Amino acid sequence: MASQTKTVKAAASPEILIYLDGKFVPKSQAMVSVFDHGFLYGDGCFEGIRAYNGRVFRLEQHLKRFYDSARAILLTIPLSMKEMEQVVVETVRVNKFKDCYIRLVVSRGPGDLGLAPWKCSKPTVLCIADKIALYPEELYRNGLSICTVPTRRNTPEAINPNIKSLNYLNNILAKIEAKNAGCEEALMMNQQGYVAECTGDNLFIIRNGVLITPPASAGALDGITKQAVLEVAGKLKIKTAETNLTRFDVFNAEECFLTGTAAEVIPVVGVDARQIGNGKPGPKTIKLIAEFKKLTQKTGTPVYKK
Ligand code: PMP
Repeated sequence: MASQTKTVKAAASPEILIYLDGKFVPKSQAMVSVFDHGFLYGDGCFEGIRAYNGRVFRLEQHLKRFYDSARAILLTIPLSMKEMEQVVVETVRVNKFKDCYIRLVVSRGPGDLGLAPWKCSKPTVLCIADKIALYPEELYRNGLSICTVPTRRNTPEAINPNIKSLNYLNNILAKIEAKNAGCEEALMMNQQGYVAECTGDNLFIIRNGVLITPPASAGALDGITKQAVLEVAGKLKIKTAETNLTRFDVFNAEECFLTGTAAEVIPVVGVDARQIGNGKPGPKTIKLIAEFKKLTQKTGTPVYKK
């Protein structure tokens, strides 16, 4: 009886198609080997990309970062960057999305139970286009509260935070710690005690009217949304800086927000039980969000022929 219900449900809502090693397959059939080292060891890397209004936002930058991550872990992606661009665009197109989140993954591929990556036959490449909601909708209007967590961001001497590797345990632990403390998002410090970033987002503050974010060298991923927001700030004549920040700076910020492809731009109104500004999303944050939205609507690699 239960299986009959399942079949009816599957037929009622058409499945999304996943790009998997050269083919588009329905979600329920998109399977990867249990011997894939992406699964066994987190050996691989990924990208999170978005399409807005039928265009893939900053695709070139995402692909560059994807190939840089792969290069850093000595993984040769079996497709050229141009071919990968087609994979991403096609994945959005076959699913008829105008707005979606795109997950591009390359893993070391199937191997044996040892670590040795050179025993893996060939990398697995997959691309998923789907919907995503990182935080509840009302937090985009009212802002969220974040809290500092004990888990520190990885050091560059261990797994460089600029590698978007398939092993996100560092960030996952931080996310759990935040949740256990009753917070939606974690503020992660680096080993030196400076602010690094949140679990899947870069952090910005506004202090004395200047928009400040930690540099990549502080243990933050060099976010593509972060770069876009810095550009937008330049256009709005808001002064910007990439400098080390302490928790003190965040506590005393006039405004604060987070950026990320999945998160987009989300205001922060509290940190470690301190209210930021007047406890509401700040005026510069609101302006930056509006301008960022405009940018996403009118730029990007077109998915559909006009
Ligand atoms: N930091 C981390 C750890 C992330 O995973 C992400 C999301 N990719 C970001 C920051 C934001 O980067 P981007 O704006 O390029 O998505």
